[in-house]
Amino acid sequence: MIDFGSQSRQRLGRFAPFLVRSPRFGNLGYVKISVPFSIQQDFVKSSRAELEILRTSIENELEKHPLPMFARHEIAGRQPGPHLLITGGVHGDEFEPMAAIRQLMSLVNAEELRGRVTLVPVVNEPAFRLGQRAAEDGRDLARTCPGRADGSITEQIAFQLSELIRSADLYIDLHTGGTRLMVLPLSGYTLHANAEVLAQQRKMARAFGLPIIWGTDPNLNGRSLSVARDANVPAIYTEYEGGGRISVEGVWAYIQGCLNVMYEFGLLAGQPILPHDPPLIVEDDRQGAGHMQINHPAPCEGFFNAAVTLGQEVQADQVLGTIVDSLGQREETIRARYAGLVIVLHTFPRVEAGVSVAVILES
Ligand SMILES: [Zn+2]
Repeated sequence: MIDFGSQSRQRLGRFAPFLVRSPRFGNLGYVKISVPFSIQQDFVKSSRAELEILRTSIENELEKHPLPMFARHEIAGRQPGPHLLITGGVHGDEFEPMAAIRQLMSLVNAEELRGRVTLVPVVNEPAFRLGQRAAEDGRDLARTCPGRADGSITEQIAFQLSELIRSADLYIDLHTGGTRLMVLPLSGYTLHANAEVLAQQRKMARAFGLPIIWGTDPNLNGRSLSVARDANVPAIYTEYEGGGRISVEGVWAYIQGCLNVMYEFGLLAGQPILPHDPPLIVEDDRQGAGHMQINHPAPCEGFFNAAVTLGQEVQADQVLGTIVDSLGQREETIRARYAGLVIVLHTFPRVEAGVSVAVILES
């Protein structure tokens, strides 16, 4: 547990650094202990005992007050009101949410706020550092909730995110298509069994102001919205393009959308500013509806050539695209299973077998 260092460190003389290690929490840091030039056996023994006590007390503290897995910004209003949680970066390669939430940190004024707003620009910091959807353990955070306090890095983040969601009265989880997908701007929610929660979710999605509103299967698990569902916290998620770049319009739409929800629920005085055109509202409670990763899966890996564009209306059986191998010897065609609107398109040319190349919102 305790690294007493090498002989050479012992020869350092006064204030030699010792690394305190915990089997549960890893390296807890260095402590400097005054060491005489010639180390006696007794000194080593007593120091070992002291460091053991120190390690136990640090572990106990960490148990009671775990280190936060992600940075959060709290704005507490002067007046009482609901607690709104807004998160971005559940996936590390989705950038509009991060930029929008960072700007909301300075746009929301505590003097004018009723209630409390918790802003988390990047939930999945290790994934963001990699510039990827998931952290180094390869787990998708949006399939890992409610996680585990002593699990892998993603499980620990999921655990703390889930605790935070349960503490909220309203929850908005901002997403995009990430590096590989493009998604039409939409607000989604679960078709919650509790009529009151469902009504609040519909109200949030409408106030957010994106052109498509999508209510889906409430029985999907592992997501941030599944935690909100189980805790009866009204929640929506949103999507806005993606494709590995950042859309300025998307950042502004997200800032306006979050402010709109604050107006609608009385956290800020004012009315939501909504687009002129009414939204397209689709509610689909079939099993798996809303699960973007299983819609029109690639039959094999290879190079994907899309034959449709994002936002296009397609007919049943229309060709969505082809996948060819590197030599062009094998070609597979993917056809629309039903007519509707292409709301998600795989824009990254390389696809793996089984990933969704397109999602069609059935018309
Ligand atoms: Zn996402």
